[in-house]
Formats: sequence, C-alpha cells, structure tokens
Amino acid sequence: MYFHPLHSPDSSQIGYLLADLDEQEAVVIDPPPRQTELILALLTERSLRLCHVLRTHVHQVDAADCSALCDCTSAQLVVGEAAALPRGCSREAMRVAHGAPLVFGNEVVRVLSTPGHTPGCLSYLWRDRLFCGDAFDVGSCCAGDGEADPGALFDTLTRRLFTLPEQTLVFPAHPIKGRHVATLGELRARYAPRLQQSRDGFITDMMQRRPRPTASRIAAPAAEG
Ligand SMILES: [Zn+2]
Repeated sequence: MYFHPLHSPDSSQIGYLLADLDEQEAVVIDPPPRQTELILALLTERSLRLCHVLRTHVHQVDAADCSALCDCTSAQLVVGEAAALPRGCSREAMRVAHGAPLVFGNEVVRVLSTPGHTPGCLSYLWRDRLFCGDAFDVGSCCAGDGEADPGALFDTLTRRLFTLPEQTLVFPAHPIKGRHVATLGELRARYAPRLQQSRDGFITDMMQRRPRPTASRIAAPAAEG
C-alpha cells in the first residue's frame, strides 16, 4: 500500500496518489494544478504505472485540465455520469456510476455518487479512506455559481456519507477548517446541528449563506443601462 497526499500551496488544493507497490499500479485523485511533474517523478521513483486519473468533481469554470498527465501516462480520466469535463480537456473520459469498482493492482476503489456541491460529484472509498472532494464544504456549498444543490447535498450527507463507519478517514480536496484529514465521526458531530433540522430547513439555511451580490455588482447594470 502506498498513499501520498499532493499539496498545491498556491491553490490550497489537495490530491492523492494511491498505489499497490507489489503490482506497481497507481491511481491519482484530484491532481492539483501544476503538479504533473511531481506526480510523474513519484511514479518513476517507484516504477508505478498510472491506471486512472479520478476526479471527484469538475466546476463549469474549472481550468484544472488533466490532459497532460493522461497523455504522459496513458491513464484513463474518470468522472461522474453527470459531470462536466475540465475546460480544454482533450481526453475521452470514462464515466462511472455509483458502486462501480475501479481496480489498480490488487486494490479496489469504490465509486460513491455524492451530488450536491455539483450535480456530478463523486466520492471514492478505498480501504478505510474516503476521498470526498468538497462534499463537506457545507459552509460554502451554495457559493453563487448555481451548480450547488442544497437538497441533494442534504441527501448525500444523511443517506450516504454519514452511513459509513465512524472511523472512516476523510480526505478532502481542500483543508477543512485548516485540517487535512478528519474521521467521519468527528464530521458527523460537527454537522449534526445543521443536519438535525428538516431537509427544507437545511435548504433554507444554505440559501441564506449564499453570498449576496456586492454593491459594485448591483450598481453595474444600472450604470450600463
Ligand atoms: Zn468544488
């Protein structure tokens, strides 16, 4: 077993390289921008073949293209059934559904459909570890770009993610309150007040957190008109 977090100091994004060292096969989850050379060096260091580039989600304006990494390694780009592709992506993507197994060496990553932050969000479960993208970024889930669906996020959290064992280690795509890993039990306790309210109450709460237009953005159309 090989597990290597990939930090991008300039974007605060975190990716993860997983490998079976016996079979020398690897996958990478959410490779951060400008980390292709580092990932290639880590693969070369251990003589690993990259099988898949897994994306938990892609935003409509996402410029984090994985084409170069796929081109250099012949790895298959994997996204959710309803996910967009990164802007400028030149690769065919393999679209996977809930429950699909992704095999590398003797290891298996399970696909979980976890919509809410975006319609096509996936999480990946490997051994005792969950790679959830921004599923727990609840405070900013309605960050104004129209992609987030608070009702779907409520269902994802209550019916899917929080049904996993308490000891599951959760690895996000960005630090959660400055931390890079938490147990599912910790997160369940932290989000309990929000999730104990009704689904409609949760949706209302999230919509109220949606950032309001700034004064300059409100004033701009009037000035043009
Ligand atoms: Zn996101």
